[in-house]
Amino acid sequence: MTIRLLPEDVAARIAAGEVVERPASVVKELVENSLDAGATRLEIETRTGGQSLIRVRDNGQGIPQAEVTLAFRRHATSKLETAQDLERIRTLGFRGEALASIASVSRVTCTTRYTEESVGTRLRLEGGKVVSRQSLGWPQGTELRIEDLFYNVPARRKFLRAARTERKHIDAFITRYAIAYPQIAFSVMHDGRQMLLTAGRGDVREALLAVYGTDLGNSLLEIPAVFAEPELPIQVRGYVGPTTVHRANRGYITLFVNGRWIQDLRLTYAVIQAYHTLLPVKRYPVAFVIITLPPEEVDVNVHPAKTEVRFHNGDDVFRAVQRAVRGTVIAEAPAAATWQAPPPTAQQVVHQRLAALRPASPQAPLPEIAPADRPRPSQPHTAPAFEAAPPSESVPPQARARRLPPLRVVGQVSTMFIVAEGPDGLYLIDQHAAHERILYEQMVSAWRQGDIPSQALLEPVVVTLPADDAARLEPLLPALQTLGMLVEPFGGASFLVRSLPAHWRDADPQMLLADLAANTETQAPSPVRLELEEMIVRRICKRLAVKGGQVLSREEMDRLVRDLEQTENPRTCPHGRPTIIQISLEQLAHQFGR
Ligand code: ADP
Ligand code: MG
Repeated sequence: MTIRLLPEDVAARIAAGEVVERPASVVKELVENSLDAGATRLEIETRTGGQSLIRVRDNGQGIPQAEVTLAFRRHATSKLETAQDLERIRTLGFRGEALASIASVSRVTCTTRYTEESVGTRLRLEGGKVVSRQSLGWPQGTELRIEDLFYNVPARRKFLRAARTERKHIDAFITRYAIAYPQIAFSVMHDGRQMLLTAGRGDVREALLAVYGTDLGNSLLEIPAVFAEPELPIQVRGYVGPTTVHRANRGYITLFVNGRWIQDLRLTYAVIQAYHTLLPVKRYPVAFVIITLPPEEVDVNVHPAKTEVRFHNGDDVFRAVQRAVRGTVIAEAPAAATWQAPPPTAQQVVHQRLAALRPASPQAPLPEIAPADRPRPSQPHTAPAFEAAPPSESVPPQARARRLPPLRVVGQVSTMFIVAEGPDGLYLIDQHAAHERILYEQMVSAWRQGDIPSQALLEPVVVTLPADDAARLEPLLPALQTLGMLVEPFGGASFLVRSLPAHWRDADPQMLLADLAANTETQAPSPVRLELEEMIVRRICKRLAVKGGQVLSREEMDRLVRDLEQTENPRTCPHGRPTIIQISLEQLAHQFGR
């Protein structure tokens, strides 16, 4: 075949494919343009999931009469002048391709009036070609009507999902912007029904309630300013779920960087890791994390859709996010049984009513945004899991208050639970879960200090396992050694145990190795890819912890409760189950009808 330059309209449609993947991408580009234009009110309307109509109207600065046609030309932008501007982008758009791309695959009507002009313009385009233009009276601002999306790209049209699915994608986008931009009033209508309405009064909590519904919206914890990184120009704000709130997928973790919603596996992982051991396995947190840093620290020009960014100092951002989220969650972690959402304020009540306007149930899940549940294999492996928790000095003062108050042991129930009394009522402690937490943190803190004392056995012990188990144990040996447990292959399915970590010196090596081999999966199935060592520690602590059914002496119970008080996260076991349930005096009084 002869090499030829593509006709302009073919080239345009190819390029459009990268920016305009589906109706939600059109909504995204139009909303970003409105935000860049300084709008404070945004009205979004769709019909049939955006395929027949997407209409976005704003009260921004508008487009000057002389520039309306130009705005639809490829690489036409008012947001960049020089190549250097590309190094520090402060607007959401900058590539000058959205309007051109959208126009090439739909019928567009753009009506606009520029703030400094008295007459507005209406421009119609079909498949990227201007078909009419008129002057008219129009309030300041811009409206874009996109009709018959992909009418001239049958292949793309075929791949559009049901209107409902496309609506979900659109909502996933707008609801997040509504939270990140609480000062902007968003109104969203689908097929004539109001989906979302935010007041735009600048109150994030209002927007959270309107988007997530009352229960979830109220339960989210605000990341306090304490967690600002004083030495770094990185600011992390936002809202995160308490440990009692979790979801089956990571689609509830939302990240914004400099006002832009981004998808970033590594930062998503930072959030998940911040909840390390605080959530049940295979459950994911709800988090809305807003990161602000100097524009020159981040490269947004990675992909036409602008949903990926690169950080100049990715590790710093990772740490800042992880610290802020972890600190917030730990500071607020309540005893599972006593926690209740604060009663709504008058303002919140108004917003509950707004939220109720939505046809979906108030708890309707946000659509999934992450395609995969597993980190991409190419994802660089992050800091060791043990560094997940910030050192205790960095826990803010209120965190201490959230720790256990001094408790007085009353007795044991059913050889499973310890009953204790505290300043605010009754505490029931799961002896096994509590002991697991204690053993785990002791080992972890030794690990953090890089100092796990190891104790050589007077005589090495030979352990022989079933062949399968032996094969599974082999790959764990290096990890065991870093934990202070020196085990060598000893021919066939036998191993020679030479030393044990001092913390576990009383354990039976045969029992430990057999248990590990039978229960540790080398391919971590858990949400965060745990370090092997960490999985081993969890497994062994589970094994070594006192069991339910074990009678404890008064001294043993006292000791256990004192040790639990010393832990950083006394309220959950390393697997995320509660260790302690509190019943307040008020609850007791209430139960007795006092
Ligand atoms: P970009 O946003 O990357 O500049 P677009 O193709 O999205 O490229 O838009 C082209 C130009 O049209 C923008 O730079 C802006 O000047 C103008 N524009 C687009 N939408 C609006 C709007 N809603 N209000 C005001 N100006 C707009
Ligand atoms: Mg744009």
